[in-house]
Amino acid sequence: MKPGTSKGRTALRWPLLTLIFLIALAAGLFFRLGPELRRQSKISPAFQIASPILLAGLPTAARFDFPIGSENGAFAYNAQRFTENRHLGDDLNGIGGENSDLGDPIFAVADGQVLFAGEAGPGWGNVIILLHAYDENGTRKFVQSYYGHVETILVAPKQKLHRGEQIATIGTAGGRYWAHLHFEMREFTTPFIGPGYRDDTRGWIDPTAFITAHRGAPEDDVGRPALQLSPTAAAPR
Ligand SMILES: [Zn+2]
Repeated sequence: MKPGTSKGRTALRWPLLTLIFLIALAAGLFFRLGPELRRQSKISPAFQIASPILLAGLPTAARFDFPIGSENGAFAYNAQRFTENRHLGDDLNGIGGENSDLGDPIFAVADGQVLFAGEAGPGWGNVIILLHAYDENGTRKFVQSYYGHVETILVAPKQKLHRGEQIATIGTAGGRYWAHLHFEMREFTTPFIGPGYRDDTRGWIDPTAFITAHRGAPEDDVGRPALQLSPTAAAPR
């Protein structure tokens, strides 16, 4: 081996190998992080992946209720409906208006499991995402319920829940809005913080229509306690 030639080749080889290594590293990072970075703007069916163990372990929800007010949606009104102004959910409020519903209870709409519970950025405040399984014509299906701007979070990720359990209180996203619940229902099984508004609503479901269509349940399927009228309101006038 001639030392001169070898030294020249080695000097050339190392920058080349370093360059190839850096390109491979960048490509690897892109393929790993790419889907995460694009997730919020582009959600494709490819992201509808959840662990089979998680899906198999989900309780089957017999029925769905509205998340605030009474189980059938009384004592609540919808200030901005699904698809109104490109809205991806319903904005649910107590009937008193403004901040009268601040701190009111938010209930799990059905049996399920907590996928996410935490701070989701300044536009959202605290968010809770639940995943539910249900049977439709003999097929096991999955649906997410999404609770935005909540004040106090009362559940933890991975916790299993029964329909009607209180999961949070109604909030304002740190004073950004009048107190209300931004409530979405989605066909996705993986948790993600969404944009809230979007032209393309594929993957999102009209929450009111879905719950109204899935209210059926056996009479002995006990949900949350009925709303109690105060003694003064119940007294004869
Ligand atoms: Zn909203």
